[in-house]
Amino acid sequence: EGLKMYFPITAGVFRKKVGDVKAVDDVSFTIYEGETLGLVGESGCGKSTCGRAILRLYEPTAGRVVLGGEDVLAAPASELRAMRPRMQMVFQDPQASLNPRMTVASIIGEPLDEHTTLSRAQKLARIYELMDKVGLNRDFANRYPHEFSGGQRQRIGIARALALNPKFIVCDEPIAALDVSIQAQVVNLLEELQDSLGLTYLFISHDLSMVRHIADRVAVMYLGRIVELASRDVLYDAPRHPYTQALLSAVPEPDPNAETARQRIILKGDVPSPANPPKGCNFCTRCPKVMPVCRELEPAFTEVAPGHFLACHLIQEAAVGAANSGANPG
Ligand code: SF4
Ligand code: MG
Repeated sequence: EGLKMYFPITAGVFRKKVGDVKAVDDVSFTIYEGETLGLVGESGCGKSTCGRAILRLYEPTAGRVVLGGEDVLAAPASELRAMRPRMQMVFQDPQASLNPRMTVASIIGEPLDEHTTLSRAQKLARIYELMDKVGLNRDFANRYPHEFSGGQRQRIGIARALALNPKFIVCDEPIAALDVSIQAQVVNLLEELQDSLGLTYLFISHDLSMVRHIADRVAVMYLGRIVELASRDVLYDAPRHPYTQALLSAVPEPDPNAETARQRIILKGDVPSPANPPKGCNFCTRCPKVMPVCRELEPAFTEVAPGHFLACHLIQEAAVGAANSGANPG
């Protein structure tokens, strides 16, 4: 709720603060138990930062994050530590996130050392169980990360994330660093684990085809803000935000000559710097449908149909009276 993650910009020998990079700027949404919420957008839009801020791997500037009724951001260190097992992260680059000097068993067992009092034997049994769950051969428990392929390394990262029986996992581009041929295997594994363990995912990705496959609902982020959020089918079949429309128009169509094929929308210019976002709508410098009001007023994130949220003046004007303004995003 109202999540903000600003990073200060400093200048000069005294490192005087001269501004903020507004990486995440007033973002609100709900993730329901057992679902996968896809968070999409171009690189640099703030989606990874949002995922980390939710898990409090960064200290957010403002906002509230509630996990199963408990306030994550307000929790003192000891309570946060007790919450950690329930919320975990799978990182983009398994190469970079696994300690090359640790064996697979010690990598997967590390969270158990930190958060449990299992005996050696119990710990080893749990490590083997986790390796089975993610499809890693137990015989490789004493090998090192470099001895594995990219896909296997991501399985190690997933096993580590599962070690403490989490309920909620932020998957940050979990397949982006993998060969296309094994991306589907890792996504299928994540889906199987979700079903068998009752997991809830925030699935961060710039791969719109993959998100369409895995997500129940999808949020689209641009320059630190969520511009549209809807069920997967509504978002992909009837996107209403000009930015979502442009993003989706770049996804290859199975038959580009079909009557229903989307026209490619080419956006002008570059994404503005999050240190200096435009006044009004964040998208106004590139929007094909920009109006004078867009350069003055920031559009509110509004529920325009049940479960369909949008931040755009165009649609709100068209839907005056019909729009359920003031509703909380969900
Ligand atoms: Fe485009 Fe205006 Fe809508 Fe922003 S508010 S997306 S500039 S039409
Ligand atoms: Mg990222």
